Amino acid sequence: MSTQIKLRHCAKTFADGTRALAPFDLTIEGGETIVLLGPSGCGKTTILRMIAGLEFPDAGGMITFDGDDVTRQSIEKRRVGMVFQSYALFPNMTVAENVAYGLKVNGVSAAERQTRVAAMLEMMHIDMLADRRIDQLSGGQRQRVALARAIAVQPRVLLLDEPLTALDAKLRVRLRTEINALLRKLGITAVYVTHDQEEALALGDRIVVMQKGEIAQIGTPREIYRSPKNPFVADFVGAANRLAGDMRDGRLHIGSQVFEAVDGWNQYNDMIDKTGPVELFFRADGLSVCEREDAHFTGRIEAVAYLGDKQRLTVSGIGPQAMMIDTHADDLTAVGSDVHCRFNIERLAIFPAHDADSGA
Ligand code: ATP
Repeated sequence: MSTQIKLRHCAKTFADGTRALAPFDLTIEGGETIVLLGPSGCGKTTILRMIAGLEFPDAGGMITFDGDDVTRQSIEKRRVGMVFQSYALFPNMTVAENVAYGLKVNGVSAAERQTRVAAMLEMMHIDMLADRRIDQLSGGQRQRVALARAIAVQPRVLLLDEPLTALDAKLRVRLRTEINALLRKLGITAVYVTHDQEEALALGDRIVVMQKGEIAQIGTPREIYRSPKNPFVADFVGAANRLAGDMRDGRLHIGSQVFEAVDGWNQYNDMIDKTGPVELFFRADGLSVCEREDAHFTGRIEAVAYLGDKQRLTVSGIGPQAMMIDTHADDLTAVGSDVHCRFNIERLAIFPAHDADSGA
């Protein structure tokens, strides 16, 4: 059975007075992969270390595993597996010895150790490296060993702190896919720390977006991407375009264009009845290239990035800042030419203008 983790009223102020985390509540369901996402210093690692038992919450905070209070329990008692950015492997041992280490400490018999290590190495596709020393491995291979070692002891919870950051981009994507499949196969509760939004969207059942020691939003990747709750989340997760507008009489005014409120705005309904300046956030698919007569806006193409399955245009002249607009890979586009585009109005996130700069 996989373990449910609850953090209640957990906060953290370090001995030197640094307030790393404001009080927060978080429930991680058994078998769920939660990704903690946010910029450097927002408190992600501190939450992970609290779950591990390497850091304790301030007085009043409580952590439970399946209802059992583990708040003051040591890391050894909690049975958590950890994987870090730096591999933290024993360099003078072989791959197999590294993976067997935790089992040996736990008193698992030699015969059983051999079977379990072999199974782990096979699962991580490193069985052919069993007798190599750690310093004879590539970065990706080392991270596979670190994962195998963490999983071998059958932890209740797997904690991963930026495990792929040190690897090159292609390898990161490949290992991320494998980790995703592995976590699903094992059904283990996992908490994964990253500042890479693409990794977070790809891996998380739910994502916790953090900002300056507080939880800015918790949601599925789709909710976080499509329905950000505030400007910080809209800006941090996925490339965001910004435009200024005005709400009046239940309509959105952008320059001379007027848009009726639409169903897709349901979650921003409280904005629709308000009057005043608003800040609009939308992705590169929030505007579509179209014919002149259908256009809401006309801009000028400043740059074209060919991405294989699509092109991403950088367009000036629509708002004060350049916009990113995706278009078909086969569309004819030329730097310096005009481009007409339509708003996909249901793709907007709308916030009162005064919110828009809060920490974004
Ligand atoms: P990064 O992505 O850079 O690892 P993070 O989001 O994981 O950042 P934390 O490591 O959790 O952030 O740190 C949160 C805040 O707490 C930071 O301001 C950090 O400087 C501070 N901090 C962390 N550990 C300590 C400590 N032992 N003593 C004092 N302050 C600390």
